Amino acid sequence: MHEPEIQLPDHIHQLADGETFTFSCHPGVRCFTECCRELELALSPYDVLRLSRELGISDQQFLDDYTIIECEGTDTFPRVYLGMVDDGRASCPFITDKGCRVYEGRPAPCRTYPLGRGAWRDGNGHPQTFYVLQHEEHCKGFAEHDQQTVKEWIAGQGLSEYYKANDMLIPLLQHEMLKKGYRPTFDQQQLYLTTLYNLENFRNNSCNSEALTDLELLQKAVTLLIREFFG
Ligand code: SF4
Ligand code: SF4
Repeated sequence: MHEPEIQLPDHIHQLADGETFTFSCHPGVRCFTECCRELELALSPYDVLRLSRELGISDQQFLDDYTIIECEGTDTFPRVYLGMVDDGRASCPFITDKGCRVYEGRPAPCRTYPLGRGAWRDGNGHPQTFYVLQHEEHCKGFAEHDQQTVKEWIAGQGLSEYYKANDMLIPLLQHEMLKKGYRPTFDQQQLYLTTLYNLENFRNNSCNSEALTDLELLQKAVTLLIREFFG
């Protein structure tokens, strides 16, 4: 099955398998850290797990101190955003003059840029993905000379674990019942939040979970929610 038909703006280019792109981001670029301001940064459950671990605080503490949680009338599940600092530039709370202070635990969107990724399941339930390059004018990283393929970028940014974790959510977020119009109740939306965005708490309260890897734990949580919501 082909990827969904999407009309891309001029500055976004779909990358073919093995195609290289020229880009590098480092403290020497003129725009260093500029993209860490005035941005809307949605966080996945795995982003929250890694960020809270990097900061040495609990998932709940992280949610309380660093996020904004929204659930509009049309939203199926709550959305979790990183709360920006009120400094006139809406800066990320983790930005410093030297760069990102949570670099080892930075969320997937920060690792992925300048790429964008689309992921879905085809009619046979097989995972499908495509990648685009977002060539934004303010970003001077495109004037650098490092060339890489998507595969090399993913390896260099430590993205594989993040993508595996985010793809685990697809059977839940794109469930057939939701496509047919089913809407979770308020209690189910809260369960989604407290289970997926507080995975260490889920580990502590779930039988035989102590030794699970992060991804195994996430898979267990997603399976439980699918059963709970859709039977
Ligand atoms: S705008 Fe581009 S080059 Fe500049 S800091 Fe951000 S990612 Fe790096
Ligand atoms: S988490 Fe780090 S890389 Fe991402 S926006 Fe904040 S400072 Fe920038």
